[in-house]
Amino acid sequence: MASDSVSAAGKPANVIDGKAVGEEIVESVRVQTLDLKAATGTVPGIAVVLVGQDPASQVYVRNKSIKAEACGFKSTQHTLAAETSEEDLLGLVGQLNADDSVHGILVQLPLPGHIDETKVLRLIDPKKDVDGFHPINVGLLSTGALDEALVPCTPAGCHLLLKRHFGGSLSGKNAIVIGRSNIVGKPMAQLLLSESCTVTVAHSRTQDLPTLSAKMDIVVAAVGRPEMVRGDWIKPGAVVMDVGINRIDAPEKGPGKSRLVGDVCFSEAVEHAAAITPVPGGIGPMTIAMLMANTLTAACRAAGRPDPTF
Ligand code: NAD
Repeated sequence: MASDSVSAAGKPANVIDGKAVGEEIVESVRVQTLDLKAATGTVPGIAVVLVGQDPASQVYVRNKSIKAEACGFKSTQHTLAAETSEEDLLGLVGQLNADDSVHGILVQLPLPGHIDETKVLRLIDPKKDVDGFHPINVGLLSTGALDEALVPCTPAGCHLLLKRHFGGSLSGKNAIVIGRSNIVGKPMAQLLLSESCTVTVAHSRTQDLPTLSAKMDIVVAAVGRPEMVRGDWIKPGAVVMDVGINRIDAPEKGPGKSRLVGDVCFSEAVEHAAAITPVPGGIGPMTIAMLMANTLTAACRAAGRPDPTF
């Protein structure tokens, strides 16, 4: 049984510690930021824009600002009232685009209903688009121009963990990405293709998904359905990236309590997989680390320096 062997961190040996790897990335960003500053005087700047008071968004934004400061970035937060007009928000994005001390712009989603999200995201300068959502960055990624693209943070985190697990090369692996969102599924599929994987993209209309999944060397689940992927969907020895973050009731913890689970039934899948990310503590911390990595990348490019390495 894979979980017989326990790591120093007290986790089964096949559980990938995304929190630890994320911290390692953040430390590497901090060190490479010092190098950039010493060589060029450039201090990476990130501007985070929050419209409204959605509690989950407030937590995400706060965590991003804390991490940015830990990296040595200049971090500015723009908190706007929920009733801010689209025009005013577009005006702010325009100002941030024109500000040379800002290398990364992140507009926290979701935006209030009266604002056209697409219009706002498309106004962000692609070179400062550290979320990687602008069609220019989508196009650069899909044409394999990874040295020019800014890649969405969650798939970038999965990509990095997979590369590390397989010692650098994913060439020839059979991979399935379950979910085809613009934020996770599609860019993940592009990254795997760029690594010469044979990629299947599954979605809500896919037929006989368990059988399909059980043939794969790599399974990336980004669906938003608690514990949908069961143990028998995982080929023995496969590597599983669980992107899902789902809050479910946990009456065993007491009345009204809840807990987070992924899109994969961890207790079953961990018995089959060679390696699997847990929820929480897997892809979540990697996502925020990759946001820092993207901001440093944007700052290095603006300063005419080579991309940082991770
Ligand atoms: P989304 O709702 O935009 O997309 C979900 C995808 O799943 C769709 O493409 C849909 O076709 C597919 N799907 C739905 N039901 C399915 C089924 N029964 N079988 C197969 N496919 C099915 O979601 P998203 O933004 O890609 O996020 C997915 C999950 O990842 C969510 O739980 C979200 O909270 C989480 N997430 C986590 C992070 C992180 O940092 N860890 C970042 C982004 C999203």
